[in-house]
Amino acid sequence: MNSNRETLSCELQQKRAISLRAVATILAFIGSADVFAQARRPLQIMVDLTDAPRKLLRAQLTIPVEPGPLTLVYPQWIPGEHGPTGPVDNFAGIAFSANEQPIPWQRDNVNMFAFHLIIPAGVRTLEAKVDFLATGPPSGLSEGASTSANLAILSWNEFVLYPSGSAAADVIFEPSVRLPEGWKFGTALTRASAGDNVIRFEPVRLEMLVDSPVLAGKFFKEVPLAADVTPKHFLDVAADGPEDLNISADELDHFSNLVREAGALFKSRHYNSYHFLLTLSDNVAHLGLEHHQSSDDRVDATTYLDDDLMLLAGDLLPHEFTHSWNGKYRRPAGLATTNYQQPMKGNLLWVYEGLTQYLGDVLAARSGIWTPAQYKSYLAASAAEMDHRPGRTWRDLEDTAVAAQTLLEETTPWDNWRRSVDYYAEGELIWLEVDTIIRNRSEGKRSLNDFCAQFLGRGGNTPPEVVPYTFEELVKALNQVETYDWAAFFHERLTSNSPHAPLGGIAGGGYRMEYNDTTNSYIRAEESSGRGLNAWYSLGIFVADNAVSDVLVGSPAYNAGLGPGMKIVAVNGRGETDELLRQAIRDAKGSGAPVELIVQNANFFKVVKIDYHDGVKYPHLVREEKKPVVIDDIIKPLAKHATVAALE
Ligand SMILES: [Zn+2]
Repeated sequence: MNSNRETLSCELQQKRAISLRAVATILAFIGSADVFAQARRPLQIMVDLTDAPRKLLRAQLTIPVEPGPLTLVYPQWIPGEHGPTGPVDNFAGIAFSANEQPIPWQRDNVNMFAFHLIIPAGVRTLEAKVDFLATGPPSGLSEGASTSANLAILSWNEFVLYPSGSAAADVIFEPSVRLPEGWKFGTALTRASAGDNVIRFEPVRLEMLVDSPVLAGKFFKEVPLAADVTPKHFLDVAADGPEDLNISADELDHFSNLVREAGALFKSRHYNSYHFLLTLSDNVAHLGLEHHQSSDDRVDATTYLDDDLMLLAGDLLPHEFTHSWNGKYRRPAGLATTNYQQPMKGNLLWVYEGLTQYLGDVLAARSGIWTPAQYKSYLAASAAEMDHRPGRTWRDLEDTAVAAQTLLEETTPWDNWRRSVDYYAEGELIWLEVDTIIRNRSEGKRSLNDFCAQFLGRGGNTPPEVVPYTFEELVKALNQVETYDWAAFFHERLTSNSPHAPLGGIAGGGYRMEYNDTTNSYIRAEESSGRGLNAWYSLGIFVADNAVSDVLVGSPAYNAGLGPGMKIVAVNGRGETDELLRQAIRDAKGSGAPVELIVQNANFFKVVKIDYHDGVKYPHLVREEKKPVVIDDIIKPLAKHATVAALE
């Protein structure tokens, strides 16, 4: 059964379903008669996407009510975003009526997400018309741009209202959507009927509605993946233009391998079917948002036509797919909230996101989306960034998880001092270390794969449900795979103020970090895709569009007085280009002359001399010859792959 029992302790959960339902019903009855009434009658929601190309989305809701005071709420805490990111600022055109008579509403003076109404005598059904202004910028989270001339991503939380105090598991919606003429769609919702561009879906609980976005578009195709696997998996693709829909047969094989590799790792699935909702567009925010039976995956229009973009996007689908097990099915108790108004606690995000980052990247390599060399380039780049994070001396990793709701923005300057959502990349390093410890202690007999099958898979397919866990339960499960002082291991890494990242997994995996003048292929792809020149491990700066985009605290550039936003006018007396700057770094190697820049800060100019003489530097993983190659073992496929499966 769908659980939103997570605010209760585990013991209580076991005592529970019947008594919980009884308590909820009594509370609902005492607190607000309308909650009691609506629990028995579904709400209806129809979202009209016909004006999506001009960023105006409309919806109609039908809400069962009882006469008297009613408070409706708009979702505030959005699952997967770990913060109060509900886009209430773009929720507009709100109008209520009953029996064709308008009913006034008043927003709560304190809670901007609550709307108060008085339902007149005799009224049992409330109609609501609401609009969502889809005008967000092409950045940020799901509230960012989600429509273009030819496609739209419908996130139901942007339209729903539900009675205050209700559990998301107890409110039933009958959803439907109206599409522009000729558009097709993909979603994890089950279609009930279709006609005149209106698609009606089977009734769902509010928690599954919010968890089931719809991707629709003019240029759209659905590709079945891993036909040999049940339940069924689909890649639903919508693109700005028809030319962007072309994804190579090889890449589709890799995605099918991903489906098989996840099955081999978790030995179970917790969905009825799974849809990768892939948006290829330069007009929407680029992100990945996990759902139980689908994922909202948005990348550049030409991603699968460009080797660099494909490398950078390689971890997206594996990461979001992994979340179906780690994050959706198994969820930290503090993130498994009863409804969307209850605040989330992010202290275990280094598991929710960190372990997902680790497993997603491993699955990208196991399925062939990344070659082993690409995986190692990525890992070196990510580990190097975490190892050059002076903010770690004042802020420990656990605090980045606790404060996630303040950090989930775009990368911003001075992130190396503030720290950012480091529980992803540093969490990945910690889980790599866990895996290498298990493998090395058991001499290869056991691995984190066993933990994943036991803790995240739990032996057997189920429909979508949430099984919350605590830190203590996590440690206990690890000990069932390999006895070790895991509590102390995690505590030390979560609370460390060491200036260096935990790199024990790289050492335990048979490698060491080395910085040299050979280009790291992942970093080169980042440079050629807009992040700009990476001189982070030499001068200590990123440069994009002839301006310093960030400065590493304590680096030669920092010591010379550079700051983010300063425009570089000249390098060693010549007009600035990335290549001139790179050459200047090379020329300064072994010489006594500094790299000399003329920089502009608003309307003021100054000469900055950077005293650095060690040349261009990029991070790499280098084999430690005497140690076993554990990392190479970790990324070997577990499952039979496309060509093999096709032959059988
Ligand atoms: Zn994630």
